[in-house]
Amino acid sequence: MHHRIVVSILILFLSCCFVANICVAAPSPLTGKIIVIDPGHGGNDNGAVANGVREANVNLAVGLKIRDKLLATGATVILTRSRDVSLELKARVDLAKATDADIFVSIHANSFPNQETSGVISFYQSGRPNNLAASIQEALVKESGAIDKGVRTENFYVMRENDITAALIEIGFLTNAPEALRLTNDVYQSKVAEGITRGINNYLQSRL
Ligand SMILES: [Zn+2]
Repeated sequence: MHHRIVVSILILFLSCCFVANICVAAPSPLTGKIIVIDPGHGGNDNGAVANGVREANVNLAVGLKIRDKLLATGATVILTRSRDVSLELKARVDLAKATDADIFVSIHANSFPNQETSGVISFYQSGRPNNLAASIQEALVKESGAIDKGVRTENFYVMRENDITAALIEIGFLTNAPEALRLTNDVYQSKVAEGITRGINNYLQSRL
């Protein structure tokens, strides 16, 4: 008798979830997806330094914000570093392999001799599909309002050595004074993080 009641309640609960889609226990679309976010450089590796801004710091600040936003989508998020520590490129890729991750997104900021140059670029490994990079670039440009410098192919270690789909995002030019200033701003960093998160979300949802 008790067993029947339990089964009835369970059926009622599941029907309710199915029909009304208001089930508390219903998994979000990205539940079970494992995403590696890789804030570039760190520790004794500053990355680019210009206009008083250190790339390693900007990458980490934005990476932490992406993690928080992605966690809210139900995904599992792994940061290659969550502090200002040195980390070899191989260790970053090995982490993705060890955790059986679905995608890998590396965060960087750019530098260029021409100080007028600004904007965002999303890279993908040459010879492989560009879908993840393209999805991130589209959402990132939309959310941040930054100049769209395109989706480009490259041969970066963290993309090449990963077996999974990977992208490397250049979130702006530190050699451009206004963009360097924006990239240290908490509100702007959140917009950049929101754009990258939406791009990742759109990419993964399109593949479900
Ligand atoms: Zn970099």
